[in-house]
Formats: sequence, structure tokens, C-alpha cells
Amino acid sequence: MQRGFKSYAEGLAVEVRREMGIPAHGRLCAFELTKFPGIPTLGFSKLIPAAKEFGVTAGQLKALEKEVHGLCIPFGPGRAILYNDNNLPARQQSDVAHEASHVLLRHPLADIVSGAVTQRSKELEDEAAHLGGTLLLPLPAALHVLAQGMSLGAAAEEYGISTEMVTYRCNVSGARLIHGRRRSAARG
Ligand SMILES: [Zn+2]
Repeated sequence: MQRGFKSYAEGLAVEVRREMGIPAHGRLCAFELTKFPGIPTLGFSKLIPAAKEFGVTAGQLKALEKEVHGLCIPFGPGRAILYNDNNLPARQQSDVAHEASHVLLRHPLADIVSGAVTQRSKELEDEAAHLGGTLLLPLPAALHVLAQGMSLGAAAEEYGISTEMVTYRCNVSGARLIHGRRRSAARG
């Protein structure tokens, strides 16, 4: 990831919240996020009748659902997001936020759908993964979780994300470090 990308992502997460009328530490639903720049989303389950008509077997569908969680496709002048709606809701949030991040970052489709893992495509994946997590739990939200002394489960529920994502974001955003410093400063 390029230098400064993490703070850029934090700024974007807060800006998006402001435009959506959500406080900096508030919950953001990935599906609401896609509506905001007008990105249509379609769950895999909607494709199943057509896939069956096309002769795709149940086994092949299962294999596809195991492999693919979300992807961007060209749609009119923009993009649409296909996502695996068979996954748990928290997983869907992270998959859709990841795909929306590719769109927000204007990643060229050619670089992200290509099967070949080039240095460039790896970098774009890292960026989308990082921004996706940041959108769901930016630094102010992670600090809020820690300041409120929320359990992992309570925080996951509050933000509609997995407990793993809560842990990861509290660490990688620097919130845990900042919170620790604030606490020792308060203790004097
Ligand atoms: Zn991606």
C-alpha cells in the first residue's frame, strides 16, 4: 500500500459518513453505502434460476459460492456489484464494502478481474481490503468501541460486522494504542 493510504482511507470513511448523515463513530451499512453513489447490487441467489436454466448443476453452484464472495461487473456507464447472499450478513457487509471500495477508488476493472495476480492487482486488492474495513469501522468507531468498553460480540452486533473484523480494525487503526495511552494519561 502506498504511503498515506491508511489516513486517506480514514478520511474517506468519515467523509462518506458525513454525506450520509451518519456520525463519525456510527454504524454504516455496506448496502446503504452502495446506494449513495448509485451502485446496483445483486445477490447470487437471484442468478440461480437463470443458472439452472443454463444447465449449471447444484454442485457447480456450490463450488462457485465457496470460491466467490463478491465481484464488480461493468453496468451501463458504471459498475454493479454481485455478492454472495448465502454468506452470513457480517460477511456480506465486508464483501460488499470491499467491492464498493474498488469502485470508490476507481480501480480499473481490467486490473481487478484478471485472474493473474500481478503486483498491481495485489496492490489494488490490498487497498480495497483496507478501505472496506475502514469504511465499516473507522478509527472514531474503533475508539468508541474501546471507550465504551464494549465486548467483541456487542461491538460486532452494533456495527453489523464479524468479531474478527472488530479485533482487526481496533488494532490496525491504531485505536487500541491511542486508547491505552489515553487511559494511562487519565491515571496520571
Ligand atoms: Zn477485490
